[in-house]
Amino acid sequence: MKIDILTLFPEMFEGVLYSSIMKRANEKGILEFVLHNIRDYSESKHKNTDDYPFGGGAGMVMMPQPIFSCLDAVDKDHTAYRIALTPRGDVLTPDLAKELSQKDSLLLLCGHYEGIDERALSVMDREVSIGDYVLTGGELPAMVLIDCLSRFIYGVLGSEDSNKDESFSYGLLEYPQYTRPAEFRGMKVPDVLLSGNHANIEKWRRNMALEETRKRRPDLLEKLK
Ligand code: SAM
Repeated sequence: MKIDILTLFPEMFEGVLYSSIMKRANEKGILEFVLHNIRDYSESKHKNTDDYPFGGGAGMVMMPQPIFSCLDAVDKDHTAYRIALTPRGDVLTPDLAKELSQKDSLLLLCGHYEGIDERALSVMDREVSIGDYVLTGGELPAMVLIDCLSRFIYGVLGSEDSNKDESFSYGLLEYPQYTRPAEFRGMKVPDVLLSGNHANIEKWRRNMALEETRKRRPDLLEKLK
């Protein structure tokens, strides 16, 4: 999958997209990231990208011209599925991430300041939010979206099973996990996990997943019903 990212701060992506699992997916050719600095497309003398909002009010709004020129250069025929990261967008869920993971190419538009001129948003295919809170820019939401959807792309995770038992995959939170040693500072791993009895282990995990969800996120259990 090719992902074009339109941003005023391409340097913010370096650490995240070129480390760990994203880096491996990139090296394997599963994911290709192309960063575009919107400022490079500004036609104003001082390379401005934002201006005062019509009607007054606090903050600055990202101007349409640099964004449209960038889109013309990067996706002239509108072949990519275009997503703007906005707080008013569809909230990111596993289902949405899975749906987006099936696209051949994505284009992500990151807002900044007070937001993006509505005319630039009108040529997007979708708006996505990462939750009901406001961040200073769309860069972190774009990185969250990329990380989340890439887990559904075959070959990105080391083991194809890794995404199956995760929190939310069955509408529940995950069961508690342990690794060696079996006892650490007086805290013991539950006996059942050392028993080698896979049926009992499965049963314990299911019960613990239900218990964790009941304790921490009873709203998820309501949805499951
Ligand atoms: N004035 C906007 C509003 O009230 O909805 C908030 C603008 S925010 C300060 C600047 C940019 O950060 C937005 O254009 C968007 O790209 C990004 N952003 C902030 N919170 C976000 C969220 N929860 N999900 C996705 N993008 C977000």
